[in-house]
Amino acid sequence: MNELMILNQRITECRLCPRLVEHRETVALVKRRAYRDSSYWGRPVTGWGDPLGRLLLVGLAPGAHGANRTGRMFTGDSSGDFLYRALFEAGFASQPQSVGVDDGLLLKDAYISAAVRCAPPDNKPAPVEIRTCRTYLETELRILTRVRVVMALGRLGFESYLAILAGQGSIARRSQFAFGHGATHRLGTGLPILIASYHPSQQNTSTGRLTEGMMREVLDQVRTLIEGAGDGSENTGA
Ligand code: SF4
Repeated sequence: MNELMILNQRITECRLCPRLVEHRETVALVKRRAYRDSSYWGRPVTGWGDPLGRLLLVGLAPGAHGANRTGRMFTGDSSGDFLYRALFEAGFASQPQSVGVDDGLLLKDAYISAAVRCAPPDNKPAPVEIRTCRTYLETELRILTRVRVVMALGRLGFESYLAILAGQGSIARRSQFAFGHGATHRLGTGLPILIASYHPSQQNTSTGRLTEGMMREVLDQVRTLIEGAGDGSENTGA
């Protein structure tokens, strides 16, 4: 078993946050009416994609009836519909649809992860839960040595990534770096470039705070950064 497989096994067995364990399992038992015939995953959700990818996307946490149901990040809800369509158009996904783990979707040169691996009530993990789960993202970053660009999907993913760098002493202060849609930060030699995006939540996409055009612009920028970031030799991790 390789390092990533070992990490993912640890993640799927994790029960460190009692509130989130109870929530993810209750949601999986009660279910949403539309999915009452589905078998919910109801466990922590691992990252997935191309382990040699140069793009790492960091979201917030599994959706209660999306990833917590299907077992794959951003799969099975409107956030995922929006995100994977955009990734497909930008050449990072093999198809625009993401409905379940056996739908044939592959990520190309990209890996998708999240700050928190269990679906939180109201999509709001507590600070202690964010801190506890951060270790998994940190380990992932150490394993995914070819990452050139980290694209934070929402403020929480952005802050979690910076917290890891601050904890390692790679940056002085998180507050040096402002979150904003399209904000790009070169964090230091050997570190991936950080680019921020609004989260593709239904709340953001249905209100027009995040449009398809805005997502396309950021992904175009990501593509430019990746192509200009070197030959894919190993970075120094994060
Ligand atoms: Fe474990 Fe993370 Fe889930 Fe907490 S949120 S139980 S640390 S996988």
